[in-house]
Amino acid sequence: MNPPGSAKKRVCIVGSGAAGLSAAWSFSRHPDQFDVEVWDKLEQAGGVATSIDLKDYGTYINDGVQGGSPVYRNTIQMMDQVGMKCAPIQMKFSFGQYENAWNNTHKTELQERFADEIAKFEKVIKIVDKMMFIFAFVPIWVVMKMFRFSDEFANLMVYPLVALFFGTGNQSERVSAAIVTQIWLNPEARMFNYDKERMVAEAADMIAFPKLGEFYTRLQHQAEEAGNVKFFFNRPVGRIYRDNTKGRKVTVFNQEGDIRESYDYIVMACDAETALKILDKPSFLERTALGNVEYYNDISITHEDEDYMNRHNDLQLKERNDQYFIHQYSPESSLMEMSFNLTNYQPQLKGFQKNIFQTIFLNDKMMDKWTIDDIDKDKIIAEKWWRQFSHAWKHFLITVPLIRFIQGSGYGTTYYCGAYTIA
Ligand SMILES: Cc1cc2nc3c(=O)[nH]c(=O)nc-3n(C[C@H](O)[C@H](O)[C@H](O)COP(=O)(O)OP(=O)(O)OC[C@H]3O[C@@H](n4cnc5c(N)ncnc54)[C@H](O)[C@@H]3O)c2cc1C
Repeated sequence: MNPPGSAKKRVCIVGSGAAGLSAAWSFSRHPDQFDVEVWDKLEQAGGVATSIDLKDYGTYINDGVQGGSPVYRNTIQMMDQVGMKCAPIQMKFSFGQYENAWNNTHKTELQERFADEIAKFEKVIKIVDKMMFIFAFVPIWVVMKMFRFSDEFANLMVYPLVALFFGTGNQSERVSAAIVTQIWLNPEARMFNYDKERMVAEAADMIAFPKLGEFYTRLQHQAEEAGNVKFFFNRPVGRIYRDNTKGRKVTVFNQEGDIRESYDYIVMACDAETALKILDKPSFLERTALGNVEYYNDISITHEDEDYMNRHNDLQLKERNDQYFIHQYSPESSLMEMSFNLTNYQPQLKGFQKNIFQTIFLNDKMMDKWTIDDIDKDKIIAEKWWRQFSHAWKHFLITVPLIRFIQGSGYGTTYYCGAYTIA
């Protein structure tokens, strides 16, 4: 951005989630070149990656973001260098119930029922992978229809795996088919080997994150120590003006309009819909790339209601220690509800005497299907709303390829980073 030796540039970063904080940390390595201010509407760094203290239990939980794959090398390294460690875990899942139950540790009736489709699906993902440039823009549901798979096989076996791998919930059937093949075929990032009889027959090597609230605070402090990065919390950006005059080209106002600052560059590390709302006169390309990102409202309920979990999932607490559960609203539909057993997942809860569950109800437009009221109110520990973006095929067709063309827009002032770029 700034050649060494020239005057220091002033940069504003909007948002201090994983993306904004990474940008701030990187700028902090160049104190001779940049003075950076990070504005966030929240009171602390980390964005959606938060932790809450459970005082009654003498512990904490990461209350949304849980973990990932060992290929998250950058994240693991950043955690390491602030003295925090990810914990290796063996990811075990349990999808469906009764005759529709299946998991990655024991063979079930469902896998026998779908033996032919499981064998055929392996061939199909290889074809899709070979023709990736076409299938990148084809949703997986089209491929399932094209190759005449049954709706039940798609809904009970394929879409739940997509939801597990990509965190796509009810939008799983709309994920690009080429992306879906990565679950088995990407040698760098795959989660499972394809099993000809069971589709998945092994626990996946994954990592669970340490206390995320603390990790992001440590990273913030490390960036501040360099002396050229300042954070302003509880300061939502209200409006951004860019002009082509000499001097600093970006003017940023807070929401109340009583704070105004000028910068050379602006880094948009907030969600796409906020970026579009606060930018004055976004270009056609900015409107197209950012306006294409779809968002959904979900709610997660952290609870101790084992009966609810048993009614909705194949829980088998005594026999197994699964971490991830999916309940389908019906075998004929791809709609699902996701749950975690956090006690089997988060390292600080290892050996904890109680099972702490989290159930996520997806897309408030489908609220009439939610069974949230069946969870015993006295057993609810926490509730939280999330606004999640969708990884639908349209995202890969429009937003992902266009992002590179909006980098440096607004007279060379504006840069984008964040979850909507599938960072
Ligand atoms: C419930 C949930 C669970 C997830 N689980 C996982 C997981 O297990 N593993 C995994 O790898 N990924 C997971 N993800 C995805 C991953 O957490 C996100 O992709 C990533 O944390 C997003 O980081 P970000 O910085 O792009 O956005 P965010 O974290 O959303 O940060 C954006 C920041 O911008 C700020 N902001 C917004 N508007 C303004 C404004 N007007 N002015 C100033 N600041 C503003 C916000 O306050 C926020 O701090 C999960 C996501 C969610 C929501």
